[in-house]
Amino acid sequence: MNVDLHCHSTASDGALAPSALVARAFEHGVRVLALTDHDTIEGLEEARTAAHALDMQLINGIELSCAWGGATIHILGYGFDVDAPPLREAIEQLHSGRWLRAEEIGRKLAMKGMPGALEGARAVQRALGDSGNAPARPHFADFLVNEGFVKDRAEAFRKWLGAGKLGDVKQHWPTLEDTVATLRAANAWVSLAHPWHYDFTRSKRRKLVADFLQAGGQAIEVVNGLQPADQVGSLAILAREFGLLVTAGSDFHAPGAWSEIGVYRPLPEDLPLLWRRFTHDPSTAV
Ligand code: MN
Ligand code: MN
Ligand code: MN
Repeated sequence: MNVDLHCHSTASDGALAPSALVARAFEHGVRVLALTDHDTIEGLEEARTAAHALDMQLINGIELSCAWGGATIHILGYGFDVDAPPLREAIEQLHSGRWLRAEEIGRKLAMKGMPGALEGARAVQRALGDSGNAPARPHFADFLVNEGFVKDRAEAFRKWLGAGKLGDVKQHWPTLEDTVATLRAANAWVSLAHPWHYDFTRSKRRKLVADFLQAGGQAIEVVNGLQPADQVGSLAILAREFGLLVTAGSDFHAPGAWSEIGVYRPLPEDLPLLWRRFTHDPSTAV
């Protein structure tokens, strides 16, 4: 695909530095790329410089975490003003929250006989490419593997870091309403990330989309990487029903993992594409 609106760099939990990510995207045929790191815009400048040199279009992007219906939901923002004060403040609060969470994960692992996890996770993160952001669970997982506490990443998540486990420390996220409002105040286009990702009933998912639209959301991510085609079909139906724009992306994090940059299932052809609103290259059709 020549458009990819969802990927991560070392500014959050991705394995490639922003410039390396952009280079990989280019090699995979991507010409319009949005870097959507979790709760940070730190990687955008480096990505933009790299994209410019390759004559690619780099869209400002971010994936913000927020709370809705007792779950943590991800919201994608695009094409925003990076200097908008409400967005800056929201990111700053999320940044300190993530550090508090990382410290608590470190304390909890230490109590289970795995000391030094915060520093170890920081070292893993630094080796990938430093950022001022808190280490995330994949960094803690690699630390646990390196120290021999578990045999691989999968075991790290299964035993210690996955949903409901000791290292799955909940953070106090802002509400969905506030998060959409923050993004809209920064002139962002707002898309609901991977609505199928959550363990919701059909009616709860529909309610999420309705509340998101009510809050000022404009699009839903109908395709996230190689998610099953029947899910894409169901999300397409929701998009049509609510008259939403649609987005798509690989959600690429690391080479050799479950996704590849620029690779995702095709979108149903009738859906209105959000990126038509901000791309200047008319040839960027999926
Ligand atoms: Mn991630
Ligand atoms: Mn996500
Ligand atoms: Mn993501």
